[in-house]
Amino acid sequence: MTESTSRDGEPLAQIKGWCPGALRPMAASDGLVVRIRPPAGRLSMAQAQGIAVLAQRHASPWLELTNRANLQLRGVGAARHAPLLDGLRALGLVDEDAASEARRNVQVQPLWTEGDVTHGLALHLGEWLADRDAPVLPAKFGFAVDTGAAPCLREAHADIRLERHADGVLVYADGADSGVVVAPQAAPRHALDLARWFLGAGGAPEGRGRMAALLGRCALPAEWRQTPVPAHAVLAPGPGPQAPGPIVSLAFGLVRASTLAALGACGALRLTPWRSLLVEGAGRLPESAELITDPLDARLRVAACTGAPGCEQAWAPTRDLALALAPAVGSGHLLHVSGCSKGCAHPTAATTIVATRRGFDFIRFGTAAGAPDHHGLDLPALEQLLQQETAHAARV
Ligand code: SF4
Repeated sequence: MTESTSRDGEPLAQIKGWCPGALRPMAASDGLVVRIRPPAGRLSMAQAQGIAVLAQRHASPWLELTNRANLQLRGVGAARHAPLLDGLRALGLVDEDAASEARRNVQVQPLWTEGDVTHGLALHLGEWLADRDAPVLPAKFGFAVDTGAAPCLREAHADIRLERHADGVLVYADGADSGVVVAPQAAPRHALDLARWFLGAGGAPEGRGRMAALLGRCALPAEWRQTPVPAHAVLAPGPGPQAPGPIVSLAFGLVRASTLAALGACGALRLTPWRSLLVEGAGRLPESAELITDPLDARLRVAACTGAPGCEQAWAPTRDLALALAPAVGSGHLLHVSGCSKGCAHPTAATTIVATRRGFDFIRFGTAAGAPDHHGLDLPALEQLLQQETAHAARV
């Protein structure tokens, strides 16, 4: 399914309404995009190193971490897809069919430790979702297994959330202020029951829709409103040491195959929704300029989509511009550079620059589809504007 978003005077950005997988890749200007959804958000050392070898053989040597904690290969020629799939299958990373793969949309809080329920719960939920009897959900519909000491995935996109509770696991609908507490082993079944309620209540007309939008027009039944959702949550962890191992960030989520292999030689990898990797138990990390270990690194202040030439909808390259502008972005702020009004890299509001056929538009605070405050800018003008914005923010 495709549809369009509008922007003044511009051809419309296409929204495809589905997400690529390994079995159902998406065509892009630079070849097929093949997305791997690691079970429970974790790659063993052998899987990480095996993917690196496959990327070097069949795809671009640059892989991408997505904001749904998946890993994707780009630039796969049509004739390379089958041998790539064979290789992924041998690593245990391919589902039975494309529908099962599409449903297995689970993000996992990465700070779990041995013995907490998180890893097992995420695996079981993935297995339930992959089952042929699981409900057929919209492509973007997702689950967050956030059962660490305190939730850290509240900002991550998800429709059904599972969080730790003193009496078990709290399962609740995104956008609701209460849910139901169940035993950990019962949580996957309850999560799927809640997904079935979403479908039955008309949450996905024409196969699309999100839980929070449904709750805006339809009351949640009392059985799903028994236990309040605690207000307390923690911020997403940035790069640096954590109990299970260090987290490393990557600019725009890009990781070279050789770097992935080197990281995979240090420990199993947990993928995060923040385009970073937790390297289990690693005492030392590989030397690489790609790896961001300092939370104050300016590259963490910019987000940018694939842009030109990789995306056929892009009006200009995005990532070099974002890197050039990063030093002008104030600490604690985020600059989003988008190749078109679709805004794939950062769907929520931020300081945003959008490529158009007539230069770059600047949106002081909004999404890529928002109304611009300035039109048709070049790099010097953008730098100047950003410096003014930073100075203004510092004065407020
Ligand atoms: S936002 Fe970027 S990646 Fe997404 S469609 Fe537009 S140009 Fe392509």
